[in-house]
Order: sequence, then structure tokens, then C-alpha cells
Amino acid sequence: MRRSVLKNLRGLLTPDPRKAWVVDRIPGAAVAVEDGRVAWIGTEAHLPAAWADAPVVDGGDAWVTPGFVDPHTHLLFGGDRSQEFNRRLHGVPYTQIAAEGGGIRETVRATRTATVAELVAAGEARLREMRDRGVVHIEAKTGYGLELEAESRLCEAYLELKAKGWSLDVTLLPAHDIPTEFAGDPEGYSRLVAEQWLPELVHRFPGLARYCDVFIETGVFTVEQGRRIFQAGKALGLQARVHADELSWTGGAELAAELGGASADHLMFCSEAGMKAMAASGVTPILLPTTTLFLGMRDWAPARKMIESGCRVALASDFNPGSSPCLDPLLVLRLGCLQLRMTFEEAYTAMTLHAAQSLGRPDLGHLHPGAEATVLLWDVKDPLEWVYWVGGTFRPRTLN
Ligand SMILES: [Zn+2]
Repeated sequence: MRRSVLKNLRGLLTPDPRKAWVVDRIPGAAVAVEDGRVAWIGTEAHLPAAWADAPVVDGGDAWVTPGFVDPHTHLLFGGDRSQEFNRRLHGVPYTQIAAEGGGIRETVRATRTATVAELVAAGEARLREMRDRGVVHIEAKTGYGLELEAESRLCEAYLELKAKGWSLDVTLLPAHDIPTEFAGDPEGYSRLVAEQWLPELVHRFPGLARYCDVFIETGVFTVEQGRRIFQAGKALGLQARVHADELSWTGGAELAAELGGASADHLMFCSEAGMKAMAASGVTPILLPTTTLFLGMRDWAPARKMIESGCRVALASDFNPGSSPCLDPLLVLRLGCLQLRMTFEEAYTAMTLHAAQSLGRPDLGHLHPGAEATVLLWDVKDPLEWVYWVGGTFRPRTLN
């Protein structure tokens, strides 16, 4: 049994996993750790006698917190779209860029020609960047291959990243868009994904993916086509995470609730019925404010209404090359407070406890007994500074 006590802490900040929105602040805290799990938290003055002889780890007067969990990323893709971004700044509309073969098609081309080694190298660089900013676990999607072999290479790259020790959950998203080979035929493509590609990917990579996802949106996939893919996924043991109600209301949140999905994501145009359905069925609404920011939209997701409806809202980066090239959890946290009108405690819970719960990880996103002891140490007077110093750079220390 390996035991230690983390002492000399300015404070401890953690959501309480027994409640939806309660954040504990413990000044002068200590954390007792046994075999990599939190065994006890409280003030150093109240450390139980049983821990008096345990080896002490010096926290250096820092605030200790659990790591951030990012429950929605498109981690792996080839190339980047900075040139296109600048063309948009020069006033060229996305429709023209897309008509010229740019936009997501550019990323699909670059992803299809990337080798597994190139994808792994890009993925590791991005994961390191996130880890250095305090993210300890992510959800990561396929979806820039849009053909079986390219989607398969993305799975292979995720398998390799997991083997290298990166903590991530994989979601299959071949229905991220309609590939040019199926232009005008989302029906045929959704059948192919449901009937052939999902079973084949699960067969090739048993146990790798836990979830599947579909971009349900006007002009992309309908609720009916999404349901077909999700039901095929369910039969293969994949739970639904849904790109829902991002640019218009289509009923994606309602579908996620009907299917007993893990999450419905984006939700800028979610209906009140959708919010109630998510609250009743335990679907986590995952809001992605950096995407709204980067697209220059004003339609911030209705976080307050969702919280009032009883939803356990989570926040995520939506890291992707087109609409959210952002690896910074603190920008997401800041937008949660400044644009989604969440309190600091709510936005923080949304990026830790609720994000972890949407991924079925009761041991992440908090530091109550039983949690994984992947603690972060922050040299701040108070964690509120992360948001208050709005352009500030804050990097945590870790114990290892
Ligand atoms: Zn996304």
C-alpha cells in the first residue's frame, strides 16, 4: 500500500460529486492519497491520526485541484486552416471557400493523405499542449476521414496514442459530413456507415471506441438518418454523443434523450422541450463556447435555461481546425462565465465533474475520496484569478 499526504496547500478546490453544482473550497487543505486514489481531504489541522506517519509531499503553498476533462474534441486531423481563416478575415464568405474545395473538404483531403505516424505526432503535440494547461482526460473523435480506410487510420492512431499512455475516450464519427463521393445522397451514406463501416471499425479495433456521433443539422444528416446510425452503434455497444442543434433546431437533443445517449453537444438552438428531455433522461448537454466565438456568432448556447431545467451542463473545447482551433481550457472557462453567464463555480463544475460524468468516469473531475489522485498545483492566490485576469497565462504544476 503506497500512502502519502499532500500538505502545505493554500487551498483545495473541488466539485462535490454527491451534488450537481456544489464546489468545495478548503483553505489550508491536506490530501491523503493511497495507491493513486484520494483517501481523505480536509484541513491540514484535522488530518486523522492514522495519517500522521505517512510520507509528506510539499504542495509549496499552491491551490490543489482535479484536472480538467475535455469531453468534446476532434483531436486528429491533417493540415490546418489558417490561410482560409485569413481569407475569411478579408471578407471571403465560407460558401465561396467551400465551393472552391476549401473548408472541411480541405481538412478531409489532408487527413486522407496523412500517415498514421503523422497523425500520432500531431495528436501528441496537441495532447501535450492540453496537458500543460491542466487537461488530464479527453474525448476524441474520428470524422475527418469520411472513407473507411481513412477512418480506420484515425482509429489506429488513437490506439497508438492510448498505448503511449494518453488518457482518452474514442468516439466514431464517420457521419461528420457527407463526403464528396456521396454528394446529395446523405441517405445512402448514412446506411453505409450504419450497416458496414461502424461494424467494420468495431471489428478491426475491438474495445477502442466507447461512443459514436452524428452531425445532425439542416443540410447534413436528419434525425431519422442519425437514429439509424445510433441504433447500429448501440447494437455494437457504442453510446450516442450527438452534434445537435448547432446552427438551427433539428431535434438532436430530443433524439439524444430518446436514445439514452451520453451527451448532446453544441445546442445553441436547443428547444425547451429538448432541455427538459435531457434533464429527465440524464443526457449531459455539452456547450462549446469557443466555437461560437471563433465563428463570430452571437447565438450563445442557453446555459442558464438548461441549468434551470435541471440539466448537468458540461463545457468543452470542440478542438478542430475549422471552427475551434483552441487547446486552452481557461478560454472555455472564461467564455462560460462571460458569455454563457455561468457562475465561476458552475463553469468550473462543467469542465471537471460534469465533463467526467458524461464520459462515465466517476473517478475524474473531483478530489473527493475514491477519485484518481491526478492533482494539479496552481500558484495563484485564488483559482478565481483564472477568469479575472482574463488574458492571463496560468500553468499548473503536477506532482510527477
Ligand atoms: Zn464537434
